[in-house]
Amino acid sequence: MEESARQGWHMGGPVAYGYQLEEHPHPNPQKAREGKKKHRLLPDPLRAPIVQMIFEDYCLHGLGLGELCDKLNSNLERYPPPRRNRKDDMPLPPTWSRSQLWSLLRNPKYTGYNVWGRHDKRRGRPFMRPREQWVWSPTPVHEPIVARELFERVEDRAHTNEHRAEAPLPKAYRQRNGKRNGRLYALRGRVRCGLCGRRMEGSHQKGNNWYRCQFVSRRGVAGADAAGHPRVLGIKEDIILEHTLDFLARRIFGPERLALLRHELADAVATAWTQHDTELEHLRRELQETERSLHRQALRLEEHDDPNHPVIALAKQRITELSARRDATTQAIADLEATRPLGARPEEIETMLAAVPDLRSELGRYEPPELAELLDAFDLTATYDKPNRRLEFAATVTPELVTTLETKRPPVGRSRNCVIAGAGFEPATFGL
Ligand SMILES: [Zn+2]
Repeated sequence: MEESARQGWHMGGPVAYGYQLEEHPHPNPQKAREGKKKHRLLPDPLRAPIVQMIFEDYCLHGLGLGELCDKLNSNLERYPPPRRNRKDDMPLPPTWSRSQLWSLLRNPKYTGYNVWGRHDKRRGRPFMRPREQWVWSPTPVHEPIVARELFERVEDRAHTNEHRAEAPLPKAYRQRNGKRNGRLYALRGRVRCGLCGRRMEGSHQKGNNWYRCQFVSRRGVAGADAAGHPRVLGIKEDIILEHTLDFLARRIFGPERLALLRHELADAVATAWTQHDTELEHLRRELQETERSLHRQALRLEEHDDPNHPVIALAKQRITELSARRDATTQAIADLEATRPLGARPEEIETMLAAVPDLRSELGRYEPPELAELLDAFDLTATYDKPNRRLEFAATVTPELVTTLETKRPPVGRSRNCVIAGAGFEPATFGL
């Protein structure tokens, strides 16, 4: 493997922005005959000069990450942005972000060398090792885009940059406790921007808690304009909390919750179960038919005393066929009975929801930490769709959660620990 990398073959994984893959027949003749290929990194004629420009602007011309971001996002046709991360399914057109530039400037592949041991993955999330610990290939293995001397200047430049806003990746990730700068945000990590899908961050201004989308701070004003994302997008905590409590009171605790839920379930879950039940019914009827036919053939056998009568031979053959079909249908029924559609049956969900104790009278008295625990228990999420002035809520109810709520008020423990596949459900969205 390492030998293959030393010879300059691409070892798989994403191709760095600015490079493209060049296909070669496999050097091993046997594998080449099987049609296997190897790939080498080759500078992309359009994007490689952009990479070079980014390094020069940053290291030699004094542009910061934010300024670079604006420069690139102001002319996306000339500076096509990197392809979007697969897990990042924003509905907005792609733009450059500061974090992309941060990692681009630290990718040693641009020097033409192969480098190992850059990331320490032991802590659950990749974090970058100090440069002294990197292992460089003795010679360049593919065509460089950036001179190694220029690459080496990045870290110095980052250190001397007083306006450096993008700190190196944090070494340890804090536990999510809802606190930020000593302030408690009851909805921290639970509010998303409906436009870009990002989690909105808590911020405190003029005596109020707000949740703000970080799009502009990550991609700059030009990026926001290019993507069609508002430059400023925030919502007061009071507004979300008011609707959160209303959602909980009506959909989870209130007297009409079952009626509302039934309406909701009529579509999604019920359809899956109807299909399941229809198919099962069909198979059972088929099994009955087969068994009736078998019975008729058995009667024919009994009617004839002569074992050599042609009808006997026919009946025996038919019985063999029918028995095989009966076994197959029986197996199919057993299989279908064993697989349950995703999600509990509507009746089961209703029972579960009916068992959630009514906490409405206590909701109003909850202090932020208790409220945060309650929201955690229901794994509540809110999506703020600013253009349509809508807040969309989702909550998860599990049988274990019901037990927790009955024994302890306010609830402790996280719903995530007790979610069973197929036992949760997500009621509801409603307008703001
Ligand atoms: Zn956003």
